[in-house]
Amino acid sequence: MQRDTAGYTVALAASMKHIYLGNPGETYFSTSDIGWVVGHSYIIYGPLINGMATIMYEGLPIRPDAGIWWSLVEKYKVTVMFSAPTAARVLKKQDPAFLTKYDLSSLKALFLAGEPLDEPTATWIGGALNKPIIDNYWQTETGWPIMAICNGVEPAPTKFGSPGKAVYGYDVKLIDETTGEEITEPNRKGVIAVNGPLPPGCLQTVWGDDKRYVSTYWSSIHNKVMYSTFDWGVKDEDGYFFILGRTDDVINVAGHRLGTREIEESISSHPNVAEVAVVGVADPLKGQVAVAFAVLKDPSKVAGPDDAKALEAEIMKVVDGQLGAVARPASVRFVSVLPKTRSGKVLRRAIQAVCEGRDAGDLTTMEDPAALAQIKDLVS
Ligand code: AMP
Repeated sequence: MQRDTAGYTVALAASMKHIYLGNPGETYFSTSDIGWVVGHSYIIYGPLINGMATIMYEGLPIRPDAGIWWSLVEKYKVTVMFSAPTAARVLKKQDPAFLTKYDLSSLKALFLAGEPLDEPTATWIGGALNKPIIDNYWQTETGWPIMAICNGVEPAPTKFGSPGKAVYGYDVKLIDETTGEEITEPNRKGVIAVNGPLPPGCLQTVWGDDKRYVSTYWSSIHNKVMYSTFDWGVKDEDGYFFILGRTDDVINVAGHRLGTREIEESISSHPNVAEVAVVGVADPLKGQVAVAFAVLKDPSKVAGPDDAKALEAEIMKVVDGQLGAVARPASVRFVSVLPKTRSGKVLRRAIQAVCEGRDAGDLTTMEDPAALAQIKDLVS
């Protein structure tokens, strides 16, 4: 993708001040992978453009123990930290004493982005650290947040489950998928789209392929030339957005359209589920069925095959009760880890490919190849 570099600099400088509350002379710590957009933008360019020191740390948040990040905060007097919800969920499985072992008085807030921040995770990490947890929503394509709370412009309260309001520069609209009309009433689901021009920092084309840029990003909204984020969302009466998942993560079970994210949320509400990925798998009878892979907080609960069956039934019952039988996954399998990119995104498409016996494609960004092998073994 191609950006204009001067505009990119402006956008990063603005976002450092207005969103991430970083001041010159302070220390910024982004835990991202350097190869990812959050990595190069917010480990390198953003902090340095803003006159801040930056920390480059490569390694897991739990090695040598779950206190490693917080020891760095204490040692380097980090004021702003930027990570992903998945990291918070990893820490949630560790002893919470590690979060209070170090002096975190320099830290103003922990910013999380990259995937939906569920309320239990936000509440848990916010409470354990005793710091504000600030969600923000953006894409590699935009380079800086589309939605956030711009506390550096005008402080506003955080709402759990919401990455905030549209950031200045983005004319964000919710669009009715079938009619292409703008949705103006609160709390109605639509596709999140942005009227052109996009602000500085965003992609201006696909490298060497202007046609593809237009056909992929600017042609999918019915009757309108608008940038599509390919995410579903709703907006409440105060202008706060809630992200409801990717428009392409919808599965079709016997003619019912279901968001895999809704099923994941429902499964996550089971007290023994730490993390879950749901994918749609081709089924000759129903078109697709939902298949779930869950990481348990206490794996000893599924030590025997009967235990696994019992827990699977329990989880199915939870989904039945919350979303109805049609959303009930065809199976719930238990794994020790989910296949993720190094930046923490669950590789749902690779899981789906493996479940359908297809080639999983390019996996060079995968954190732990054994995670996908485990799923392959379970489904073959
Ligand atoms: P990437 O370009 O790989 O960073 O992925 C961008 C996608 O991640 C978005 O289109 C959303 O689907 C998701 N995403 C990013 N930030 C958030 C957030 N704060 N809340 C919910 N989803 C998010």
